[in-house]
Amino acid sequence: MLCEWRVRKKGRESNPYEDYRDFPSVFCLKINHGGTFTTPPKSRYKGGKINWVDDIDSDIFSIVEVTSMMEELGYENPCLAYYYKKPNIDLDNGLTELAVDKDVCEMLMYVDKFKKKFEAGVSKQKVFRAKNIAYERVVGRAKSNIMLNNMCEVLNRQLVDGRDKPIITCLEYIREYLIKRIVNVQKAAAKLKVDWNGSDLYQVTCPWGDQFVVNMSDRLSTWKEMYRFKINPINGPYAWKKSDVPTTIILPKPHPQIGRPPKKRKKSAAELANEIMKSNKMTRSGKSVTCSSCKRVGHNQRGCKSKKSGDVGAGSQGSGDAGVGGSHTT
Ligand SMILES: [Zn+2]
Repeated sequence: MLCEWRVRKKGRESNPYEDYRDFPSVFCLKINHGGTFTTPPKSRYKGGKINWVDDIDSDIFSIVEVTSMMEELGYENPCLAYYYKKPNIDLDNGLTELAVDKDVCEMLMYVDKFKKKFEAGVSKQKVFRAKNIAYERVVGRAKSNIMLNNMCEVLNRQLVDGRDKPIITCLEYIREYLIKRIVNVQKAAAKLKVDWNGSDLYQVTCPWGDQFVVNMSDRLSTWKEMYRFKINPINGPYAWKKSDVPTTIILPKPHPQIGRPPKKRKKSAAELANEIMKSNKMTRSGKSVTCSSCKRVGHNQRGCKSKKSGDVGAGSQGSGDAGVGGSHTT
């Protein structure tokens, strides 16, 4: 990428590690000018001004560029000697002249090294992603992250139960599944140990002794896409944002269906499975009969002993054992 440097305006805050994270060739310079060096030991740069120059592209950086920076900072026809300080060394030992292109190359080497060191030390995000990638390799699911088709297959299989449900319920089902899945991966990934191996390489050690080297530059783009969005749990319909669409959705009007409504009684499953049905009539098994002549339960008219003995109707409501049919005389 090619970009143009600019002198930082007053009051503007900048975090180069954040701003240039994705642009390895871009850096910024802090320029001290207009002052003097005190004599060593413990020399300092006294007086003068400080200016920052942002968005410098190391691919097109040179002494000429530095000169034009100084011109922009108010030096007409600058014929100055430039020095830069090596990182993590004091001014007595770390001050190096910036005069020819070889010096520039050396300085850019520090820029490169310093940026990478920082990224490895601080970027927990990257360590976390390396853990995830290694975990995918351990359990043999790596393919599902890359191949869209495979991803769809995996998701489809998990959502079989939710697919027949109404749309809101179905979405709810999918959301729950995805949350569970993400949490599971994170739980498993938390057990892995990650060490930085230099540049984009990370060594990942599993609790059971396996080791992997993960190259972030190969896999980062895929993972960035995958975890760009986070699916957070929500409380319920009352927490949903109210729609600003003016239309109110009401229930559809009930209307008669075409065709004659059925008249026949719907039979139960037990009825349809026969046993208790014989030639479309229920069997009388299990039901006790009542005698129509003496009104007692347990026999019918044909087996009625009261009728045979000519005692018809007597003691129809009376006490006595049904079927015994004793003589009831008053
Ligand atoms: Zn009877």
